[in-house]
Amino acid sequence: MSNGTHYEVLARKYRPQTFSELAGQEHVSRTLQNAIDSGRVAHAFLFTGARGVGKTSTARIMAKTLNCEKGVTHEPCNVCPQCIEITKGTSTDVFEIDGASNNGVDDVRDLRDNIKYLPSHSRYRIIIIDEVHMLSTNAFNALLKTLEEPPEHVKFIFATTEPHKLPVTILSRCQRFDFKRVTLPKIICRLREIADKESVVVSDTSLALIARKGDGSMRDSLTAFDQVLAFCGNSVSDEDVGTLLGTIDRRLLAEISAAIFGGNTQVVLAGIKQVDLVGYNMRQFCQELIEHFRNLLIIRSVKKPEEILDMTAAELDELNKQSLHITALDIQRRLTLFIKAESEMSYASFPRLIVEMALLKAALLAPLVPIQELIEKIKGLETAAVHTPSLPWEAARTVSVPVPQYAEPEQNTSSSSRPSQPDEGGEAVVVNEHGGEHADWGRFVAFVNEKNRQLGSVLEHGSPFKQETGLIEIGFPAGSYYLIAAQDTEFIDDVKALASTFAGGNTVIRVKSIETGFADTPLSLAEKKKCDAEQRLEDLKQEVEKHPVIKEAERVFGSCITDVREL
Ligand SMILES: [Zn+2]
Repeated sequence: MSNGTHYEVLARKYRPQTFSELAGQEHVSRTLQNAIDSGRVAHAFLFTGARGVGKTSTARIMAKTLNCEKGVTHEPCNVCPQCIEITKGTSTDVFEIDGASNNGVDDVRDLRDNIKYLPSHSRYRIIIIDEVHMLSTNAFNALLKTLEEPPEHVKFIFATTEPHKLPVTILSRCQRFDFKRVTLPKIICRLREIADKESVVVSDTSLALIARKGDGSMRDSLTAFDQVLAFCGNSVSDEDVGTLLGTIDRRLLAEISAAIFGGNTQVVLAGIKQVDLVGYNMRQFCQELIEHFRNLLIIRSVKKPEEILDMTAAELDELNKQSLHITALDIQRRLTLFIKAESEMSYASFPRLIVEMALLKAALLAPLVPIQELIEKIKGLETAAVHTPSLPWEAARTVSVPVPQYAEPEQNTSSSSRPSQPDEGGEAVVVNEHGGEHADWGRFVAFVNEKNRQLGSVLEHGSPFKQETGLIEIGFPAGSYYLIAAQDTEFIDDVKALASTFAGGNTVIRVKSIETGFADTPLSLAEKKKCDAEQRLEDLKQEVEKHPVIKEAERVFGSCITDVREL
């Protein structure tokens, strides 16, 4: 650093003097140099782009290149009188005008008078107008006349941050170059060069902080560096830079975001407290947190984040580590909360409270399982099921309903299910009054069903009170449709005929009405079927609850069974 009384600011001291020194605008340098080399230099240029990205520096380099005594080459020599005068701003053939302060028509008229004359001792008279969009309409009109028929010895270079404010008539007469914001690594690289030349000890972390402060502007970054050097001298500490530039320590941001993803509310609130203690603006903290989460999201979402994020390799590496076990979806959900909080803060009386609430909410968000992951889990369960006993519903399907006693009526004679089988012509045996002898009744109804569906369906709803040789007594609920149907003489005759065929010999059919609440009524086949189905479902439920695959599914999804249905 200079120890003299005069301190030259870094932006001026290290202003690029050649195209090769111009950082971050290689596309502009290359095109301009090609034009110079091929001798096709336009008579008016327009340099557009944000502040501090090198527009005016490029204009001066261009002026020197065109007027250098060593000849028009693609770099100025910077040692001849012409080059030195232009660098100092004392050249009589290069006019630098600030459009903001010399914006009147008179200024432009003066200019027009001036360029009538040939250059005094150089090739060209070069007019550089900075912030050209500030010129008045009349001034533009006056300028336009010159641009339409420019003298051979005159070159115009206009610079502006707001090209859209220029009249189309001016725009169409200029060769336009758009200057980019300078990327972070390029600014850091330049800061490192300067730090070395100035013998300043400073970490990469600090340089990154300083560079970020410039927000893509080399000049603003150098101004921030000036500020740091004025405060720290030749030895710069990370803490000082953080305090001085008012940026949140990235470690604190990383710590808070890790706590948010880890659901550690204690650390989250302690972090906010710390931010508040150092007097940091809560809204700005929220904005930095948003940017941090945006960076994490980009890291998790794209293959080449370095092409999108303006960050150093070390910073990218660090973010990568932080985002390792987080999904893009988890980041996105939290980011939404912060963005909402940030917008609420502009009119809030308690900004800290809003940040705290948003961050607590973010920390306590229940994890979402992406659909794809769920599908994978289900697939896993299916594979597991192959190796376990058959699923309950599959078992149920093969066990099936215990009604097929209908199936083969001729087997009834050899059936051993009945303790006392009536022998031919033997005495009547009293059938179990409680319906235990459903098998015989079932076989008979099945037989009837085969012959006459309509009769069978009525019988299915009847309670078999007696089924003896020569007598069948069936009860139906009083007042029911079935009772009326069964009391029909035609019905009785038909059933009688079928019963005779079924059992052999004459059978009396007796139909009676059952009063509700009559305790000893045997179940009808329809009722029995319903009972069996209920019982089966109950058994199925118990089996399902015990099954290892189901238990595992409940564990994986944190769910419970609400209903079991038979397929
Ligand atoms: Zn020169």
